[in-house]
Amino acid sequence: MLEKGKNMIKRIYLDHSATTYILDEVYEAMLPYLKKSFGNPSSFHWLGREARKSVENSREKIAEVISAKPNEIYFTSGGTEADNTAIKGVAFANQSKGNQIITSKIEHHAVIHTCQYLEKKGFNITYLPVDKYGTVGLDALKSAITDKTILISIMHANNEIGTIQPIEEIGRIAKESGIYFHTDAIQSFGKIPIDINKMNIDLLSMSAHKIYGPKGIGALFIRKGVKIESLFHGGHHEMNKRAGTENVPGIIGFGKAGEIAKKDIENNIYKKIGELRDYLQNGITEKINNVYVNGHPEKRLPIILDVCFEFIEGESIMLKLDGKGMAVSSGSACTSGSLEPSHVLLAMGIEPALAQGSVRFSLGKENTKQEMDEVLSVLPEIIESLREMSPFSSEIPFPEGAGPRKRH
Ligand SMILES: *Cc1c(COP(=O)(O)O)cnc(C)c1O
Repeated sequence: MLEKGKNMIKRIYLDHSATTYILDEVYEAMLPYLKKSFGNPSSFHWLGREARKSVENSREKIAEVISAKPNEIYFTSGGTEADNTAIKGVAFANQSKGNQIITSKIEHHAVIHTCQYLEKKGFNITYLPVDKYGTVGLDALKSAITDKTILISIMHANNEIGTIQPIEEIGRIAKESGIYFHTDAIQSFGKIPIDINKMNIDLLSMSAHKIYGPKGIGALFIRKGVKIESLFHGGHHEMNKRAGTENVPGIIGFGKAGEIAKKDIENNIYKKIGELRDYLQNGITEKINNVYVNGHPEKRLPIILDVCFEFIEGESIMLKLDGKGMAVSSGSACTSGSLEPSHVLLAMGIEPALAQGSVRFSLGKENTKQEMDEVLSVLPEIIESLREMSPFSSEIPFPEGAGPRKRH
């Protein structure tokens, strides 16, 4: 349907928080390492040295984005591995000090499921609540700390709603209490400024494919001196912390993407993307009734717009938009065939039925105002037609207890 010559429908990609395309410059930078510069960075001959030099160059570029030192950057297979390494690594290395880890209810599954695994291994996990904007309360954090707390892991920007946490304050609290602080910065890295020293961050997860780099490569910043165990054992790669021959093309692509992202932040391109996001948001709230914008009104990643459309399912909206060539994401996760409302929205106090109606639009560098207009030209009709079919929007009241949620 998409490739029918003249009838080809225009494709609009609004799912950049799921993944991004690879920039031309990134692709070009990677190409030699997929073919002629195939050396193993651990080899001491000319071909190995060539690869080693490029890997170290990328390490410097990634370090620069967060004001870290290159020897504090460890390449991983992506964001998930970085989160796993930070949390399990610190947990296993510091068990003798205590078994409590503090995180939040709105973390990515790479953090939540890792913490649930550690619970089974005898760790005590505190999942901090959030307010209606998805922000973690600092008082709740302070009162959750005990003399058994070994790690605080709270994400920088949320991947569904975009809310940015008060990372600097959390870092200060962690430092004052002598507790390691990890942040999953996979959504914010390369989009908003990060300074690991100002923010008192000890461990920070990054991923390339959210910033126009390749998939399957990421990194973990580990502050010098942090006690951490490795997840992988083998050769002496990555300063003895992560065994396995490096993904050289991936690392080169990640370095290039990081270098470009740093310039993009300096050139304020995310201000423009934020304006485009606000344009879409205003259009949706003006043209459609019974919609709720999720996340913090200001402290929010400029690329993310998460909206709940009342009475219908986000999944159906996503499929209808897909039929028009528009890629968005629905907030609900498909778990064993049934749609589960997002744990993030539930933690913010949104009723399950409303949470089912969530759609995430996440913008990128190539999106245009014209594309926003095209979305705005089809979305009201889609919502209207779905609501016409929805039993929940009928005026006939449900029998006691039968409705999905109370109408107001
Ligand atoms: C994408 C994402 C991850 C997982 O990163 P991968 O590189 O896909 O493994 C973890 N946390 C957040 C917040 C993300 O957005």
